[in-house]
Amino acid sequence: MIQKNSLMALAVLVLILLTASCTGKDTGKPENTKIMSSRGAKAEAPPVSAELKEMLADYPPAIRESIMKNTGDFLSLATKALKLPPEIFVMADKQHALGEAFIPEHLVPLTDYPELTLSRKTLELRKIVIPDLLQMVSDAEKEGLTLVISSTYRSYNYQKMLFEREVKLYGLETAERESARPGTSQHQLGVTIDFGSISDEYADTPSGKWLLKNAWKYGFSLSYPQGYEWLTGYRPEVWHYRYITPLGTQLQRKYFNDIQQYMLMFLSENRTRLLSITD
Ligand SMILES: [Zn+2]
Repeated sequence: MIQKNSLMALAVLVLILLTASCTGKDTGKPENTKIMSSRGAKAEAPPVSAELKEMLADYPPAIRESIMKNTGDFLSLATKALKLPPEIFVMADKQHALGEAFIPEHLVPLTDYPELTLSRKTLELRKIVIPDLLQMVSDAEKEGLTLVISSTYRSYNYQKMLFEREVKLYGLETAERESARPGTSQHQLGVTIDFGSISDEYADTPSGKWLLKNAWKYGFSLSYPQGYEWLTGYRPEVWHYRYITPLGTQLQRKYFNDIQQYMLMFLSENRTRLLSITD
């Protein structure tokens, strides 16, 4: 008798449970509410360090470690950097073409600044570069060095003309190897400068050495360093510097192994995410 009663009780219990779960599924409400509330709760959002770790998964160990050791300082610098005009950190390379429509704002002729030494009179740069450039040139001068500015802004159409000329002269294969397709040059940004002789020998000149050591203090970053052709797509160019502001070069040196490409990749891949975790 006792056994029969227990079985009956069990059957009733099972029936109640089944009914309850069916009701739940029919309306859909109880389950959905539960998911919404657990996702919406701030306390359950992943911690900042876990998010950063995920963003850094594909970066070299030295970069991962330097950032994870100092997440607060890193995020504060990175957030400040991301609040600068977005084109300061925009990628412009063989994989990330700027396109025909990209024309930088506020280009100024460098002949407006008699303190600059120019190889041609037609050179232009964005106004944002000028104050730090003038300071750098003046500080180099104090050490007896003249920084010659040889090439600056190159429009899309100018790049197109150069590329087509190369194709005509040497064929498409050679043109692709030796020069860049239009839209893929950092010179289109209006913040990039080629200094001196635009050749490998520049590395051995006093000016070349001075820039390598000091340009970062003024916000100028060497875009194509030795040993990173596989990453940047360009062979080393000891004369080619991109202005990314002093905040940018500080971030690059402190947290990205002083490699511009890694920093640009990281900031462009994670822009929205970084701004949302620090807001
Ligand atoms: Zn260049």
